[in-house]
Amino acid sequence: MSDKTNNRPRTKLVHGGSKRSQWNEVSEAVFMTQGFVYDTAEAAEQRFIKVGDDEFIYARYGNPTMRMFEDRLAGYLGYEDGFACTSGMAAVSGALLALCKAGDHVVASRALFGSCLYVLEEVLGRYGVEITLVDGRDNAAWDAALRPETSVVFLESISNPTLEVIDLAHVCEAAHKVGALVIVDDAMATPVFSYAKDCGADLVVISTTKHVDGQGRLLGGMICGSKELIRGPIEAYMKHTGGAMNPFTAWSHLKALETLELRVRAQAAGALAVADALSGHDKIAAVRYPTHADHPQQELALRQAPSGGTVLAFEVKGGKEACFRFLNALETIIISNNFADAKSIATHPATTTHQRLPQEQKDMLGISDGLVRLSIGLEDIEDLKADLLQALDAA
Ligand SMILES: *Cc1c(COP(=O)(O)O)cnc(C)c1O
Repeated sequence: MSDKTNNRPRTKLVHGGSKRSQWNEVSEAVFMTQGFVYDTAEAAEQRFIKVGDDEFIYARYGNPTMRMFEDRLAGYLGYEDGFACTSGMAAVSGALLALCKAGDHVVASRALFGSCLYVLEEVLGRYGVEITLVDGRDNAAWDAALRPETSVVFLESISNPTLEVIDLAHVCEAAHKVGALVIVDDAMATPVFSYAKDCGADLVVISTTKHVDGQGRLLGGMICGSKELIRGPIEAYMKHTGGAMNPFTAWSHLKALETLELRVRAQAAGALAVADALSGHDKIAAVRYPTHADHPQQELALRQAPSGGTVLAFEVKGGKEACFRFLNALETIIISNNFADAKSIATHPATTTHQRLPQEQKDMLGISDGLVRLSIGLEDIEDLKADLLQALDAA
């Protein structure tokens, strides 16, 4: 078997979870089937009593291609198991809804992706779950918000789009003291530089739409954690509510994992180099990249991970007008709203991804009219720097 459990992480990305059919194929097979055949009625009965490790019933519950992908990514991240979902939001909402019940209390960081905020405040709120939002950077605020009835803590390890960093070891320890489970949305940290497991997070939810796909094609998500949680409440909720990943996405993601480290390490090095090139530029007010010297939490970011990921943010001086002149002058970098693509992407959060936030919330989160979120792709970094500098001239 090429999938040895003591393999190093990069080897796990290539071989982890692989299982061959009777044809001994090299590239993992994609099993496009809804169901599975039983040799006898007794075998069908047995499978419905207990599903074994390599046994399946119906694609909404799981599928061999999906299982290979789950084993590969969960194994890479150091978790016992994973459940692959239709999107990052299916993973986020699935994890929260599987674990919370009426009367529970949830503490979450306030700098959250809009859809995450919707699930917490609108959906969980509707079912009688009380939510407390805190400034995720403030350890004392977490300590003060946690209570004996807190069942779940939810946070983004690095926030989108302003790249705030949370002291994850502190939050996990404080949450575990009151018996709460910690769910970390790890989209910005990237699977390659994730420290959720090391810091004690019980579950990590990942939008695999981002770095795992990495080439702007497919939506996907994943929930990783202990076997007890994943094959217990998480699987039960996901399989009955219809959020399981489809086999084609699982297959494409499996192949994408083989190049994940190469891509993300190159993109992260590019992000730091761009932060360096823009730092101190006279048309830019502030550059934010977690492990860069200009970031107020650089020390914490470096204590938690060697890299701050593939996305940076910066503020163009002169408000929305100057910022739009800058964006419209970009020639290689495209304007879009996703991140973690091979193509570098510039986003203006205040008018797109975060347009609906009330002004006072934008102010609180630092989403100004000049703020640009920049996702670094796989282009030659010199071309990206040149494109940014000529566009800043136009601003
Ligand atoms: C993109 C993203 C999601 C949602 O992922 P989808 O795959 O688009 O559903 C959730 N959280 C964060 C932090 C994200 O960036």
